[in-house]
Amino acid sequence: MYDKCVKLLQERGVTLEDIGDLVLFLQGKYHPEIGMEEIMLTVKGVVAKREVQHAIMTGILIDQIAESNFEMDEQLRMTLMNDESLYGIDEVLAYGICNLYGSIALTNYGYIDREKPGILATINEHCAQCNVFLDDIVGAIAASAASKIAHTHGK
Ligand code: MG
Repeated sequence: MYDKCVKLLQERGVTLEDIGDLVLFLQGKYHPEIGMEEIMLTVKGVVAKREVQHAIMTGILIDQIAESNFEMDEQLRMTLMNDESLYGIDEVLAYGICNLYGSIALTNYGYIDREKPGILATINEHCAQCNVFLDDIVGAIAASAASKIAHTHGK
């Protein structure tokens, strides 16, 4: 299931290294001593959790359904394809990931979701593909890894 999720993220345009860069963005100034090796191990540890894998697969599936010819409510399809700001279910799924890593994960997620650095900016500009759930999942994984690092290093 881990390999399937890594491949799925890659097919949608996100590598684990992209997520590692987001963690560096979040934690770099607090922990300048931390290298990419530790960051990548932490990101992989987050993605290894079954609940995170379920969130990845479910969220990306909804993005893919919105893009496809699958018969769904047209209003809901347009809401997803336009990434309407009042649709907050993508954020709710992301909280499910963050909740596994405590309040620091949640605040980091809120920050990164607003700032949209790195890969988050790239996937938000992608017009042909529906990335409504993808950006929140990726942000939540990075925020959770950042929280894990903060707890491990005591700040
Ligand atoms: Mg979103």
